[in-house]
Amino acid sequence: MTAQVIDGRAMGAQIKAELRDEIRRYMQEQGRPPGLVIVQVGGEAASGVYSKAILRVAEEVGVVARLEQLPAITSTDELHALLLHLNSDEATQGIIVQMPLPAHLSQKMVADTVAAGKDIDGISPRSAGNLFLGLPSFLPSTAAAVMEMLERTQTPLAGKRVVILGRSNVVGKPLSMMLLQKNATVTVCHSRTADLPGFTRQADVLVAAVGRANMITSDMVRPGAVVIDVGINALPGGGIVGDVDFSSVREVASALTPTPGGVGPLTNVLLIKQCVRAAWSALENDCVTTIGAR
Ligand code: NAP
Repeated sequence: MTAQVIDGRAMGAQIKAELRDEIRRYMQEQGRPPGLVIVQVGGEAASGVYSKAILRVAEEVGVVARLEQLPAITSTDELHALLLHLNSDEATQGIIVQMPLPAHLSQKMVADTVAAGKDIDGISPRSAGNLFLGLPSFLPSTAAAVMEMLERTQTPLAGKRVVILGRSNVVGKPLSMMLLQKNATVTVCHSRTADLPGFTRQADVLVAAVGRANMITSDMVRPGAVVIDVGINALPGGGIVGDVDFSSVREVASALTPTPGGVGPLTNVLLIKQCVRAAWSALENDCVTTIGAR
C-alpha cells in the first residue's frame, strides 16, 4: 500500500479562500475587517519566524494584523498593561502572545489576563476548561489543525482507536479532548509509556507530536492507519523532518501527512480562522468556536 499524502498547503489554501469570503461578509456588515495583535517579548528567533508566518496568512485573507514587539526587559506590569489595553480595544478581536516568554515573565499571568473572547489560541484556563467540559471554546491551533485535517479527509473517528504520542498542553492534551468529542477511543502516550510500539500498532489513527526526528518507523504502524505527523525537527545539516519516517511509513499507512507541508501550514490558518470566529462572536457578545464547526 502506498499512502495518500495529505497536502496541508492545499487544504490551507482552501480554508483561506473560505475565510476571504467570510471576511468580505464581515466587512460588509461591520465596515472594517477583524483585527489581530501578536505580542512578542524579546527577540527569540523562532517566535519571529512564527509571527511573520501568522502575519502573512492574516494579510492573505484580509485580517488586519500587527506585531507588538516588546524588548526582553519588559516588566510584568508593562506586559499586563498592554494586554488589558488590547482586551478593551474594539479594533482587536484576537490576541496571541508568542511563547516562550523571557524567564522573568509569567505564562500564567498572560493566560489569566487575555480576555476569554480574544483568546484565539485557546491558552487560558477558561478555554481549556470549556474544552474539557465539551463546551464551545477556542482551541489550541495545532490541535485544531489536526482535527480539521481529519475532518476534511473524512477520516472516520467514531469508535476508532486513536493513539496520540505527546501530552503537551498545546497539542496532545487538547487533541485528546477533541477526539473524545468525536467518539474516538483515545490513548495518549508519552516519554514514560512502556512498550510504545504495542500502542502505536493498534492505532486506526496515529498522531505523533513528540519532537524526535523519524521516530515512528513502518513496523510501528498498523497497515492502513491514518498517520498525522505534528513533529517539526531541524536536521543538523539543514532542513526539517517530522516525527514519522515518511518514506517507510508511506508504504504501510493509508494516508499520511508530510513534513514540511502537512500540519504546519494549517496551524496558522486555523489561528486566523479562530480570530474570524472571535470577531463574529464579539458581535453576539459570546465566545464561540464550536468544536468541528465550519
Ligand atoms: P513538548 O511540549 O516538548 O511535548 C513533547 C511530548 O512528547 C511530551 O508529552 C513528551 O512526554 C513526549 N515524548 C518525548 N519523548 C518521547 C518518547 N520517546 N516517546 C513518547 N513520547 C515522548 O512538545 P510540543 O510542543 O507538544 O511539540 C511536539 C512536536 O510538535 C515538536 O516537534 C514541535 O516542534 C511540533 N509542533 C508543531 C506545530 C505545528 O504547527 N505543526 C505546533 C506545535 C508543535 P513527557 O510529557 O513525558 O515529557
